[in-house]
This record gives sequence, C-alpha cells and structure tokens, in this order.
Amino acid sequence: MTRYIRIGLTCAALVCVITACSDGGNGSGSSGAPIEQPAPAAPTQQRVKPPSEAQVVPSPPVTPVTSGSGNGNSAPDGAGGAGLETTKPVESKEKPAPSPSPDTAAGSVYGATRNPAGAAVGSNATKPQEPGSGDRKQLSWYYMKKSKGQVPGFPGETKTFADSMKALWVGTGKKVYLTIDTGGDLGDIDTLVKALKDNDAKANFFIAGYNVKKNPDFVRQLVKDGHLVANHTMTHTDMNLQTDDQVRKEIKDYEKLYKEVTGQDIQPFFRFPYGRYNKHLLELVSGMGYTSVFWSTAMRDWEPRKNGAEDPYNDIMNNLHDGNIILMHQGSPENIQALDRIVKAIQKAGYTLALLDDIEPPK
Ligand SMILES: [Zn+2]
Repeated sequence: MTRYIRIGLTCAALVCVITACSDGGNGSGSSGAPIEQPAPAAPTQQRVKPPSEAQVVPSPPVTPVTSGSGNGNSAPDGAGGAGLETTKPVESKEKPAPSPSPDTAAGSVYGATRNPAGAAVGSNATKPQEPGSGDRKQLSWYYMKKSKGQVPGFPGETKTFADSMKALWVGTGKKVYLTIDTGGDLGDIDTLVKALKDNDAKANFFIAGYNVKKNPDFVRQLVKDGHLVANHTMTHTDMNLQTDDQVRKEIKDYEKLYKEVTGQDIQPFFRFPYGRYNKHLLELVSGMGYTSVFWSTAMRDWEPRKNGAEDPYNDIMNNLHDGNIILMHQGSPENIQALDRIVKAIQKAGYTLALLDDIEPPK
C-alpha cells in the first residue's frame, strides 16, 4: 500500500506529460527480485497498479514545442490522449529535477565523452542509487506531440547519444511499429491475438519475465504467429536503481527463460521498464547485443480510460506518423477492445504494421 501512496503523490506532481510508462510491474524499485510481486488481485487493483509507472516517470520539465495543442491536436473528446502523451507539459508546481529542457540540451554533449566506443561497461558494479550524474544521470523517456501526422519532438538528450548506444524511438516510411508492453497484466489475450491475426498484422511484444513464466503458452503463440517478442527484464523494475551486475542478470535470465520457453534465441531488442534509463545503461545494454527501443506514441493507459475504447483509438490515430513506434499496454482493457479498429485504421491510412527488425531509424 505504501507503494501506491507514494505513487499517487509522485504522479500528481508530475502530472503527466510524459508519456511514458510501460505498464505496471511492481513499481517498487527494489532490487531483489521476487518476481511475482506485482500481483494485483482484483481487477480493480490491477488498474491501480499501473500508475506506479506513471509515477516512476519523473515528468521532465517539458516545454512542449509547438504542440498545436489547443487545436485540432487533441481529439474532440479528447481527454484521453492529449494529456498524457505529451502534450502539455504541465509545469509542475514543484519543479522536478532540473533537467535539460528538451531543446537546450541539444548541443551539449556531456555524454559522448565517455568513450562511446568502448561500450564495454565492464566492471562498475556500483549502484547509482541517486539521480546520478554524467552518463549515469537518470532519464525518463518522453516526446512532444506535434500536429497530426507529424513526427513528434524528442528529448534533447537524444542528440547526445553515441551510435554505440543503439537506441530507437521512431523509424521512417509507411510503417508503424506497434509495441505491446506487458509489464503488468496480461489482460484479454484471446482478443488481442485474434485482432492481430484477423488483420494479418504483426506486433512487437515486450513481456516481463514474470509474465513469461506465468503464461508461456501465450509467448509460444506469439512466436508461432510471427510476432516479435523481446527483452523487458525479469522483474520490470527501474533499471536505474540496479547495479550493473543486476541489470546484466535481468537480461541474461530473460534470455535463458525465453530460450527455454520458445526454443529460440531472444530478439535483440530491449525496453527499459517505465522508460527509465541512463546513457551508461544504454551502453551496457548495447554491449550485450541489444538495441533499446523507446517510442513516439504512448497513452495514459495505465488507468481506466475516460471514454472507453475511443481513447486509445484517438490517441493513436491523432498522432500517427511515418515510422511511428507505438507503446500500448496490454493490461488496458480499452486498448484491447480498440485494437481491431486501430489496426484496421492504421492499415487504411496506408501503413504496414511491421516488426522492429525491419526498422530504419531516421538519420
Ligand atoms: Zn513495461
């Protein structure tokens, strides 16, 4: 319970803007790894859990670039989407940590200094418990929504990412990458699988290890259907709060589990739980062969949607753009209810729902 409270507070402060979140695993940033903690029991509770992510995401003091916000940008019925995603960067009354504003940081390359090349982040097993500094400065992913059809703006720190950090957040061309995050509840699997199959659409799944253990048949089904399943850690905790050794273990254990369950090697894509990361970790993860995947559309889908399935539909369609990497949480019933309609609409708009191994990031 304490956890929820803490969450609530943080969340309120941050207010959303952000975007981020990956569903709710247990938000406790504790290290150990009792895998099953996130267990919510009642449906209601599950819906409560996700917020943890929100909270974890310290909303960056975003200054929404343009964001045509007021106008057409947000859906008429809007409540749903507009907010969370990106748009209004509400400046929280109490300023969060001073972090580079999206566009200022642009030029300052404070990170590239640290040997981009030697990704070999070998030994530092020390834990960055606090916000960190330098390349260990804790970051939370977000983006700034623009007018319909336009590629959003991204955090200034992305301009300081070295190539060796291998990170993706948007692609190019008439392709959309639906990434379904299952750090929280598995939800209505049958409807999910069917919606994709009926429309011959492929999706990318980031399923926390404890969920793979919980329902290995689901993972096997996804692989069989041609979807991509990638690494989302075993415990779905904030990697900023883990030691390097723990992070490596989270990833390695997942690889092993995936192999046991599917008989195949894991796809080399990784998503940081809650979109919480740092540049040092990007190097560490890429040093293990992975590309870190963020997103260019996210929704406030860790809580009940005000307008039901209309919200995820509008959130996504109002921000659809070339190379769009969409983050959708599987545990949101509204997402699953809207999925068939969303997939059809994306295809009708001329896009192919593709796999991440097919992506070409803009240069
Ligand atoms: Zn997640």
